[in-house]
Amino acid sequence: MKFNPANNIQDLQYFGEFGGVNPSISDSTTYTFLSAKSMFDTFEGNTEGCYLYSRHTSPSNLYLSEALAQMEGTETANVASTGMGAITPVILQLCGAGDHIVSSRTIYGGTYAFMKNFTPRMGIETSFVDITKLDVVEAAITPKTKILYCETVSNPLLEVADVPALSKLAKKHGLTLIVDNTFSPLCISPAQLGADIVVHSLTKFINGASDTMGGVICASREFIDATKSVNDGASMLLGAAMDSQQSSSILKNLRTLHIRMKQHSKNAAYLAERFEKDGLKTVYPGLKSHPSHEVFKAMMNEEYGYGGMLTIDAGSLEKANTLMELMQERNLGYLAVSLGFYKTLFSAPGTSTSSEIPEEEQKEMGLSDGIIRFSIGLDNDIERTYAMMKACMVEVGVL
Ligand SMILES: *Cc1c(COP(=O)(O)O)cnc(C)c1O
Repeated sequence: MKFNPANNIQDLQYFGEFGGVNPSISDSTTYTFLSAKSMFDTFEGNTEGCYLYSRHTSPSNLYLSEALAQMEGTETANVASTGMGAITPVILQLCGAGDHIVSSRTIYGGTYAFMKNFTPRMGIETSFVDITKLDVVEAAITPKTKILYCETVSNPLLEVADVPALSKLAKKHGLTLIVDNTFSPLCISPAQLGADIVVHSLTKFINGASDTMGGVICASREFIDATKSVNDGASMLLGAAMDSQQSSSILKNLRTLHIRMKQHSKNAAYLAERFEKDGLKTVYPGLKSHPSHEVFKAMMNEEYGYGGMLTIDAGSLEKANTLMELMQERNLGYLAVSLGFYKTLFSAPGTSTSSEIPEEEQKEMGLSDGIIRFSIGLDNDIERTYAMMKACMVEVGVL
């Protein structure tokens, strides 16, 4: 049977304590034991069916984790308080002093800063490469390399990682392939294509309401158990645990993710096609002109489309800023970072979300000043939106 992430989420059946249609929220940070012996066993790692303390796990977190594991088709998962709270423990669980990482150079600014500026303090070095060039990726691998790291669709340039090909490389060299799938939930299922670990910021499309932060690690039971170990588990010891209120809230939003992703994708595809026809430099994986269009197409779960993210080049930072201010004034969206909201969000990545990346490197990777990143919203009438956006672009001199 064909893998369908939304069906997998929907097929779960959770009841609340009193037969509620939503599972009860676990309103406790600590849990009682009927015997002292079972408390001891739980500390020793035999936690089957027992809850200890909510930084380790809670019933609400397990419900959300299980739904996300179903979405990615991994054995299990563990949620965290933020996306970075999921990503950083994965890296620190796998790497120690002397180890090396090969990472895509076009990744989320925070992840980039962590590997570039923070992990070297612990003796972990990273080589940043163009992830779309497999020969370059392979050439960067050394005997010390432990991790191959990328984003399915990268922030902010929307480069697409060829997950099956990278998985082959990782296997050949004994590396763990970690894929951040924040930009393309449901659209692409990296674990089905050979990724060992899939991470997400739940703060974006998955929660979709821009009201709550969250992250998740989807992986094997062995790996997740290791990150939760009370003795040396990076998730447990670094402490970025999710609160039960949050996981309960995100689980409710996760249930409409398939409907939202289809609408985000439909609207983004519509605008990308029009913008390109109008002569704007437009980047969208669904466009035939996108260098990795075929790679995306070969990996995608078709019904969810090519995602809600696109970029255009307004020519200069000044024009980009004027255009964004005007679009906000006309209520076409908000000048804000983040993504996956019902409203369109736009920002100039060079001066915001990717400002951690030095200017020279930005240039080298093709991140020019005038680029505007759009997270296209759930607009009911995208033709109207397009007409209004086009009017702004003409007014500002972008078109
Ligand atoms: C936002 C984001 C993160 C970080 O997530 P937070 O929830 O903000 O900690 C990681 N990766 C990508 C691709 C993101 O967009």
